[in-house]
Amino acid sequence: MLVTFWGTRGSISTPGPQTEKYGGNTACVSVRQGSTIIIFDAGTGIRELGLRLMREYERTGAPLEVHLLLSHTHWDHIQGLPFFSPAYLPDTKLNIYGSPKKGRFLASILEGQMDTEYFPISMREWGSRVAIREIRNHCIDINGIEVVSEEQHYHPGGSIRFRLSSGAAKIVYASDVELDAFITGRPADKNKKVKAQAAAYKAFIQDADLLIGDGQYSTEEYKRCVGWGHTSMPVLAEVASECGVKRLAVFHHDPQHSDHYLDRAAHRLSPEYAEGEDPMSLFWAREGMTLSVS
Ligand SMILES: [Zn+2]
Ligand SMILES: [Zn+2]
Repeated sequence: MLVTFWGTRGSISTPGPQTEKYGGNTACVSVRQGSTIIIFDAGTGIRELGLRLMREYERTGAPLEVHLLLSHTHWDHIQGLPFFSPAYLPDTKLNIYGSPKKGRFLASILEGQMDTEYFPISMREWGSRVAIREIRNHCIDINGIEVVSEEQHYHPGGSIRFRLSSGAAKIVYASDVELDAFITGRPADKNKKVKAQAAAYKAFIQDADLLIGDGQYSTEEYKRCVGWGHTSMPVLAEVASECGVKRLAVFHHDPQHSDHYLDRAAHRLSPEYAEGEDPMSLFWAREGMTLSVS
């Protein structure tokens, strides 16, 4: 499976000279295996991915089939969707999976974003064949890749994490979750429900070849952002290492974090996990970066 980061930023896009290296586009990651195209989230990064797919379509003439997995419908995870060019091609089959929220259908939330008050083109004008499927705790098969989804509660409104398995290779995408709120602390301080949530998260990421995880804050910043639904970098790294994750991509960078800041964070934290019996490669996800997972 080839994994490419198209948007690594959380909350809001942050273009500019301070974010050139890690990128300013919001959440979007593609996973490709043969002709299968799976995408995590449709933040502003999906626009550039769409243009790449259009060039491939123009070159080969092969119709595109895309599987888009939405962790949730906060803006930074859906705002690029109206600019996803393949959605306007009659040849394209666009499968969207995500969770309904607060009693509203997923389709109506996505349509709302393209209401005439917000965007000049309505979703009905997409030429592609669109199928929207609501999932929460499901296991589905996409061309031989097993996709498991599980609800995450520690984020305002909730979110979903996903695990892709192909052969022995495992990729987990678990963004927008506040691990500090339910994983850290003494076990005696936690009630049964919280302990069960922590155990479920750990089981989900256990032995992943690649974990793409929410690491928005430093420890100091987190103290000012309790309850906002995001994790501190050291806690993410600690839990991932404990669960035998082989590569950890810190993701959903804070809009205030410059390239310089993220470089310093990487410099401080990565060496801690590079050695020992069970080393973990810890890095900060960068727009345009591609990794092979097998
Ligand atoms: Zn987000
Ligand atoms: Zn969110």
